[in-house]
Amino acid sequence: MPAQPFVLADQHPHSARARRANRRVCRVVLVSAPRRCQSSDVSLTDQPFTAPGTLAGPLLSWLPDETLFSLCGRLHRLWGYSSSWKSAEILFGGRRLGLHHDLPSALRTFSSRTGQLLGGPVPIAENRTLLRFYRPFLRPSAVAETVEIMGGPSVAHLKYKLGLLTSRFGANHPLKACIACMTADVERNGWAYWHAEHQFPGVWICPVHASPLRVSTVKHNGVERFSWQLPHDRNLTEVLGASEARCLHALHEFSLWVTELAGTDRDDGWLHAEKVQPTILRRMQDRGWITPAGHVRLKEATKSYVAHCTHLQSLPELAMLSTHEDGGCAQINRLIRPLRSGIHPLRLLVAIHWLFADVGDFVYGFVAQPALTADGRAVK
Ligand SMILES: [Zn+2]
Repeated sequence: MPAQPFVLADQHPHSARARRANRRVCRVVLVSAPRRCQSSDVSLTDQPFTAPGTLAGPLLSWLPDETLFSLCGRLHRLWGYSSSWKSAEILFGGRRLGLHHDLPSALRTFSSRTGQLLGGPVPIAENRTLLRFYRPFLRPSAVAETVEIMGGPSVAHLKYKLGLLTSRFGANHPLKACIACMTADVERNGWAYWHAEHQFPGVWICPVHASPLRVSTVKHNGVERFSWQLPHDRNLTEVLGASEARCLHALHEFSLWVTELAGTDRDDGWLHAEKVQPTILRRMQDRGWITPAGHVRLKEATKSYVAHCTHLQSLPELAMLSTHEDGGCAQINRLIRPLRSGIHPLRLLVAIHWLFADVGDFVYGFVAQPALTADGRAVK
């Protein structure tokens, strides 16, 4: 077993308690890896990392709902390195590994180098990255494959495999934060950090404070693309500032639905399109948009769908939702016809939000009622 010359530290690095703790930690580090720490200060030296398999610095424990990218950003600040690549190399074994804020790579190395004190690669991938959002919509085999890829050194083709690059919803996942959460987090924990649920596609209003999330301007910048970042108000910009009140209300409700459905602790794949589609068809039949003979009244359904999408379309992420008849008709057709390819989770979530009164109404219909196929037959 390699030596474990690090401990978990919960305090902010600038607090007196943390400084005392870090001095204690660094004394431990000096014994185990003297070339890594040349002073009693919390900042480590700029010496190259020379001891693969061990870390020579204090660790931090997870904060509630924190992402891996956020924890690494806090470690980078705690250790005091001037360049992001140094912390990336120490934690992930490469200068640009692990730096993707949504679906990062090299989780096996991270887990090994942190002595599994922060969990193994599977729970980290499933709960501390954006895979947490996608898991309900992916078959268990696809989740396992994704975890395997994220465990290794390259995630270059992962978004293509997940169908995100070919989706009209896009594959970018902007870093988002709530100013009120940041203030509360600093008071409670000493850190402003990235919350996992805020990063979910479709979540643009803080579920706790009902305030619009702001988007980081840093990770979009080419120079700063491979860097550790923590939320700071000077690097966050408003997206929904001028939106109408009724749009904000709809987006808040949609954000709550997304966090409740995608964040629920259920089996992987429970919201896979093949499972959800029969429930959507059943509800459309209840609304009279699918006749008992299986005939679809597209015009009436499209009118309702387009009116619903109007309030959600103020988000760039949902701008592709059609507010005109032809586009709406095509989107409904995609929902009710036999599935030839995957459906993006946001398309399913918008459909659920359109058709059901609340999440409980959907879950009841999903679990308790027999489902129908597009031609009106019960699914056996
Ligand atoms: Zn908040």
